[in-house]
Amino acid sequence: MSLAPLLARIRDCRHCAERFAATHSAHAPNPVLRVSPTATVCIAGQAPGIRVHRSGKPFTDPSGVRLRAWMGVDEDIFYDAARIAIIPMAFCFPGHTATRADLPPAPDCARLWRSPLFEVLPQFRIILLVGKAAQDWHLEEKAGMGERVRRWTDAPPAESTIERVPLPHPSWRNNAWLKANPWFETETLPKLRAALSLHLP
Ligand code: SF4
Repeated sequence: MSLAPLLARIRDCRHCAERFAATHSAHAPNPVLRVSPTATVCIAGQAPGIRVHRSGKPFTDPSGVRLRAWMGVDEDIFYDAARIAIIPMAFCFPGHTATRADLPPAPDCARLWRSPLFEVLPQFRIILLVGKAAQDWHLEEKAGMGERVRRWTDAPPAESTIERVPLPHPSWRNNAWLKANPWFETETLPKLRAALSLHLP
């Protein structure tokens, strides 16, 4: 299947409708992703939050502000689907618990859609693995998020044609980790921006 019909099927997907209806937010599926046949940079995130569910635009939240700062790009570049694809591990907001906490990403989404989608998008040259779920899917070696980020930071430039860059999720929930690991700011981010500059004309 080529990209356009596959994308149409994803946008029509209602696989998790019953699951979402049973959450405290009682919402309907609304897949949020951005892809094109030309983007060479891919952001593999986690799942949309409630704000993104409502806006239909990924990373329209404080996490997006922080991620753009990490990447050193403005909104024009970040939301240019011809240059940057945004493909979360689950495409729909997973819902709220009774205490309004976010539920984990819908577990079936990656199993259903991720492999076929990446098969029709062979042009990626750098994939940002934002959070542990994306790292567990896209990386072979088993390790914690911090260890993976440290390893990539210390490694020489990638020899493979696709560079996979593990990153913490930019959520406020990782503020303590960011504070405890100042090398992320001083070593990882400059290397990340240098790698992106090779692929963002
Ligand atoms: S999360 Fe994925 S599998 Fe579930 S309804 Fe949305 S697109 Fe379909």
